[in-house]
Amino acid sequence: MDHLPVFLNLKGKRTLLVGNGVSAARKADLLLRAGSELTIVTPELGEELSRLADTFEFTHQSTPATADDLAGCVVVFGCSGDEAVNQNLCELASAAGIMVNVSDKTESCDFIMPALVDRSPLLIAISSGGSSPLLVRMLKARFETTIPAAYGRLAEFAGSYRDRIKKLIPNLTRRRRFWEAMVSGPIAEHLFSNQLEEAESLMESQLEEAAMVGDQAPFGEVYLVGTGPGDPDLLTFRALRLMQQADVVLYDRLIGEGILNLVRRDARRVYVGKLKNNHTVSQEEIGHMLIELARQGKRVLRLKGGDPFVFGRGGEEIEALSENGIAFQVVPGVTAASGCAAYAGIPLTHRDHAQACIFVTGHEKNGVLNLNWNSLIQPRQTVVLYMALTSLAAVTRGFLNHGAAPATPAAVIENGTRAGQRVITGTLESLLDKTLEAGIKSPALIIVGSVVGLRKKLSWFANRPKD
Ligand code: SAH
Repeated sequence: MDHLPVFLNLKGKRTLLVGNGVSAARKADLLLRAGSELTIVTPELGEELSRLADTFEFTHQSTPATADDLAGCVVVFGCSGDEAVNQNLCELASAAGIMVNVSDKTESCDFIMPALVDRSPLLIAISSGGSSPLLVRMLKARFETTIPAAYGRLAEFAGSYRDRIKKLIPNLTRRRRFWEAMVSGPIAEHLFSNQLEEAESLMESQLEEAAMVGDQAPFGEVYLVGTGPGDPDLLTFRALRLMQQADVVLYDRLIGEGILNLVRRDARRVYVGKLKNNHTVSQEEIGHMLIELARQGKRVLRLKGGDPFVFGRGGEEIEALSENGIAFQVVPGVTAASGCAAYAGIPLTHRDHAQACIFVTGHEKNGVLNLNWNSLIQPRQTVVLYMALTSLAAVTRGFLNHGAAPATPAAVIENGTRAGQRVITGTLESLLDKTLEAGIKSPALIIVGSVVGLRKKLSWFANRPKD
């Protein structure tokens, strides 16, 4: 992150701006609307600035800015068309330790001004740090069209009840639920259709109800959410919705930053993967944590790579929940087999090659790979092996020893669907050496079957992970 986004309270505080053009007028307008005591330094007020004087009060200074003029200023703005004037301001500001913004000159700025979607008191500020103004404009246009003007009314309404509700519902979790129901329920609908009285009376009756319920913590719930193999674009809408309303999130190594960043910012993050001392949080411990947190009234998000019910031990986790009477939801995800295959250009079934596809785990138990080779080595079938990288030697040997053709195409996909995805293709005979040579690391998926041979033809058109 190159900049820290903040919203300044400038009410009654001094600011200073040099310049006279459209950009000066635009910034002056924002500063004055934010309630700042603004001094505009320019020999003469231009047309736009003069118009501002009809609505707002500010000080106009026609002589150049001096160190004295900057005294007591919180921030200052260089909007002059004359670079020397802006430069002089920068020097004065720097000497006085005041932050400066210069129009269209990011390198001279202590802070930059974001693009704004104004639904006061609701404000959305957008910035690309100067790297792509076009993208910012596009996003702004998108927000302008999708966020109704009435959201400002909703925010104002909520603000007017804030203190009262804080006193009435001291329990934080319960209070959050109250607000969530309010901003997405009938009260909001009334406000959107400008029916303030109806909204107020409904709010009063809901406050009465809340007072009657008392302040015990609400019931918690567990969301067991499949996130897909890594590309955040492969999340389902439902996954995203639940990720946005979780209080706590339990995640492990398979969950990348891109996905974790989409979880509600305020949610507490608990890592339950392998720890530094190589201690793995056991399935049992995870189960206890889920139950304990839900009992505290939390909405607990358990993120699972791929699909929770495909080699995800999701079944065991919800068993513990249902035994303890904890409510839960399971959200399916794109499993590694379909995600990796699609992004690698390998169809799992194909009329001319495979009419069946089988998913197995190559995880060795006590050093032994226990697979039903006869069911795997069948004509016109694709075999996908999860967790089989460390046992790859035993896997390929097993296939060959049980009669599979050495020339059967096979692939390893490392980091499927993510930036840095690598695909190694070969045959049952050559795959192990090629994989070792390439230094393939976990997570990796193995696909065996003649469909792998189609990759050459199809990969050009397959989805590619973003860089
Ligand atoms: N529930 C998950 C699987 C968990 S088991 C799912 O449905 O996908 C973990 C194994 O999944 C890894 O050892 C690897 O074989 C596979 N895997 C998961 N994500 C992967 C990825 N992005 N690329 C390659 N393999 C992946």
